[in-house]
Amino acid sequence: QADDHPAVPADSHDLIRVRGARVNNLKDIDVDLPKRRLTVFTGLSGSGKSSLVFGTVAAESQRLINETYSSFVQGFMPTLARPDVDVLDGITTAIIVDQERIGGNPRSTVGTITDANAMLRILFSRLGEPHVGPSTAFSFNVPSVSGSGAIKVGDKKATKASFESLGGMCPRCEGMGTVSEMDLTQLYDAEKSLNEGALTIPGYSADGWYGRIFSGCGYFDPDTPIKDFTDTELDALLYKEPTKIKVDGINLTYEGLIPRIQKSMLSKDIDSVQPHIRAFIERAVTQTVCPECDGTRLAEHARNSKIDGLSIADACRMPIVDLAAWVDRLDDPRVAPLLENLRATLSSFVEIGLGYLALERPTGTLSGGEGQRTKMIRHLGSALTDVTYVFDEPTVGLHPHDISRMNDLLLRLRDKGNTVLVVEHKPEVIAIADHLVDLGPGAGTGGGQVCFEGDLAGLEAADTVTGRHLHHRAVLKPQVREASGTLEIRDACANNLDHVDVDVPLGVLVAVTGVAGSGKSSLIHGSVSGQPEVVAIDQTAIRGSRRSNPATYTGLLEPIRKAFAKANGVKPALFSANSEGACPVCKGAGVIYTDLVTMAGVASPCEDCGGKRFRAEVLEYRLGDGDSAKDISEVLAMTVEAARGFFAEGAARTPAASKILDRLADVGLGYLTLGQPLTTLSGGERQRIKLATAMADKAGLYVLDEPTTGLHLADVDQLLGMLDRLVDSGRSVIVIEHHQAVMAHADWIIDLGPGAGQDGGRVVFEGTPAELVADRSTLTGQHLADYVG
Ligand code: ADP
Ligand code: ADP
Ligand code: ZN
Ligand code: ZN
Repeated sequence: QADDHPAVPADSHDLIRVRGARVNNLKDIDVDLPKRRLTVFTGLSGSGKSSLVFGTVAAESQRLINETYSSFVQGFMPTLARPDVDVLDGITTAIIVDQERIGGNPRSTVGTITDANAMLRILFSRLGEPHVGPSTAFSFNVPSVSGSGAIKVGDKKATKASFESLGGMCPRCEGMGTVSEMDLTQLYDAEKSLNEGALTIPGYSADGWYGRIFSGCGYFDPDTPIKDFTDTELDALLYKEPTKIKVDGINLTYEGLIPRIQKSMLSKDIDSVQPHIRAFIERAVTQTVCPECDGTRLAEHARNSKIDGLSIADACRMPIVDLAAWVDRLDDPRVAPLLENLRATLSSFVEIGLGYLALERPTGTLSGGEGQRTKMIRHLGSALTDVTYVFDEPTVGLHPHDISRMNDLLLRLRDKGNTVLVVEHKPEVIAIADHLVDLGPGAGTGGGQVCFEGDLAGLEAADTVTGRHLHHRAVLKPQVREASGTLEIRDACANNLDHVDVDVPLGVLVAVTGVAGSGKSSLIHGSVSGQPEVVAIDQTAIRGSRRSNPATYTGLLEPIRKAFAKANGVKPALFSANSEGACPVCKGAGVIYTDLVTMAGVASPCEDCGGKRFRAEVLEYRLGDGDSAKDISEVLAMTVEAARGFFAEGAARTPAASKILDRLADVGLGYLTLGQPLTTLSGGERQRIKLATAMADKAGLYVLDEPTTGLHLADVDQLLGMLDRLVDSGRSVIVIEHHQAVMAHADWIIDLGPGAGQDGGRVVFEGTPAELVADRSTLTGQHLADYVG
C-alpha cells in the first residue's frame, strides 16, 4: 500500500505541522505528519509518544473544537489549557480510540454503542411478524428513563403511557435485563429494636441522622425488636413512599429503607462510592436475571416479533459471527440499504477478531483491548471523513494471528480519507506504516527527541533502539526449569470453558496463550485465582485520591519522610501531602481540579504553591549534601532513576528507599516522576507499578495479564529478567501473553483455543515452547515457529 501513497506529500497543506512541542518531556521538537496517511509512533515506554500524540496533537484539536461552541455551551465545558507548543497547524477533528473502559451506563452493550442494535431495531420493525410498528418499539436506550427508575412521561396520548415511553424496554427491569434483590438480613438485625441499633446499613447507626429519623418517625415503636413488627409496620420500615413528617420539631421526609438505599447508594456508579458502602452493596444486593423478560431487556410485544423464527433478543444473544451469517441470508428489497450497512458492521466485528462476542454483552465487562476494538467499529461505520484518529496500542489483547486483520481495519480508516496516528510497538503494525516517528533516545528526561522520521526501510537502517530491535528474534531456551509442584484445575466451566482439566506447573514461568476470546482470562481468573492465594496484577485503575503518586502508592514516601525528619529534627508528618505541611489551597495535590459531571476532571497548577504542593516553611527543610541537597518538592519532581542516585549515598543515603526504587527501575519505570499523579499513568504503567509493589510480598503465585502492554521491544527484555528473578526466588508466575518473546522465554505453555468464544475454551496444547514449535498444530505454535525462525 505504500506504493500508491507517497510517504510524505510535498504539498504542505497536506501536513499536520508541529513546531516547538514541549509537553511533559518533549524537548522543543518539530514534526511533520502527513495527512490521510497512517503514521506509527515508536520508542521506549516513557520516551514521549503519548505526550506528542495525545498530549499535543489530540489535546489541541479537542481544545479548538471546544472553542467553536457558543459561550453558553462552553460554560459547561472544561477550559482546556493550550498544550505547550509553538505552532500546530493543519489539524483536523481528533477522535481518540483508547483502552479506557467504555461508559458506566449499565444499559450500554456492544450492540447499543455500535449502532448494530439501532439497525436491528429498524429491521425488526419493518420485517418482524407480528408487525409491531414504529422502530421505537425496539428501543433499548430511551433517555427519558432516569437511572433511579423514575419515568418521565412525555406523550400522554398513548394509553399505556409509561409502557410506551419505555419504548419497548421491559417495564420490570427498565431495560437492564437484571433486577436487584436486597438481602434483608444485611439491612437490620431482627432481634434488636431500632433504639438498640437494629439497622446495620453504613451511616444508619441509632444515634446518627438517619437512625434518628427512623426512631422518631412514629410509624413503629423504636423499642420493639423488628421481629415483632406487624406487617404494616414492617412495610413502612422497608417500603413506605416519601412522606413529609416532623421529628423533634424539624420538617423531614420519611422514606422506607429500600427506596432510600436505592436512591442514595444503588443509583450511583459502583466505582465512585466509598469502599465501605461498596462492601455493603456487594453484601446486600444480588443481581438476578429479570424474571419478566428473561434477561432480554425487551417488553413482551418486542420479544414476540420474529423474522424467520428469530426474535431481536435471539439475534442479540448469539455470537456476532453467527448473527452475521443469518443476516447474510436475509434478502428483502424493502430494506436493502439497511441490510448492507448492518452486514458491514457485523463483518467488521468478525474481521477485528470480536466475532465471538454477542451484541447483548455489557460494555462494562469488556477487556481494554476488546473495548478499543469495539470503539473502532463504531468509527468504521461513521460517515465522517478527514478526521484524525488516534490509537493507543490497538493490538493489545490480540494474538499474532489477529494482528493482520487489525492492520486491514487501520488501513481502511485511512483509505476513507482519514489521518491515522497510532502508538504501537508491534513490528507487524510498524511494517504497514506510511510514515514512522521514532522518539527517544531514552525514556523520561532521557527521551523526548525525534530520533528518526521516515519510512520503514529508513527505520530499519536507523541506528535507534527501535531500528536495532525491529528484527530482533528471541531464541528458545536450551533448558527450561523443572516444576516444583502442580496446581490442578478440574472441570473449569467459566464462560466458554469446556470442562477444562489442566495441570499448571508451579515454581516456573507459565505462559497462557490463545487468540482473543479463547478463554485465557476465564481459566486463570476463574479457576486459578479461586484456589490458592494469588497476587493478581492487572491494568485496572488504582483506587486512591488525586494526591496518590508512585511515592505514596509504593510506600516510598515513608522512608523519605523519615529521612527528611531526621536530617532536620522535625516530625515526619510535615512531609506528607495530606498533612499540615501541605499547601492549604491545593491540599498537597499541586494542581487544582475542576470536576465535571460528564468529563474527566481538568487540572491546572495551584497558584498558591506554584505546583510545589507544600507550605513555604516546609520547603526550607532540605536533605543531602551541600549544593545537591533537595527539598521535598524537588525530591517528588525527580525521576525514579535520578532518585536512585540521590538516595544511594552521602547524607541522603536511605537504604529503605533504595530498595523500593530499585524495584521500580526493575519493572522499567525508571523514567517515572515520583510525584506524578497515578491518574495520569497508562494501563501498562499501572500494571508495572502494581508489580513493583507486589514484588515485596511474600506471596507464592503471581498472575499477570499481558505485562508487555506499553512496552517497547527493548523494555520486554528487562521485564523478562524481572520475571526470571521472581521465579528464581521461589515463586510461581503465570502470564497471559501474546508477545512471542515472552512465549519463547516461558518454561511451560498452556495454549487455549482453537478459536474464540464457542470455538474456543479447550486446551489445545500444553508443554514447553520448543515442543509447541515442533508441534505446530496450533495457531500459536505456527506463529511462534515463524517468529523464532
Ligand atoms: P510514552 O507514551 O512514550 O510511554 P509518555 O509521553 O507517556 O511516554 O511520557 C513521557 C514522559 O513524560 C515520561 O517521563 C512520563 O513520566 C512523563 N509524563 C507523562 N504524563 C505526565 C503527566 N501527566 N505529568 C507529568 N509527567 C508526565
Ligand atoms: P481471553 O482471555 O482468551 O481473551 P476470555 O476468557 O476473556 O478470553 O473470554 C472467553 C469467552 O468468554 C469469550 O467468548 C468471552 O466473550 C466470554 N466472556 C468473558 N467474560 C465474560 C463476561 N463477563 N460475561 C459474559 N461472557 C464473557
Ligand atoms: Zn426485564
Ligand atoms: Zn498548592
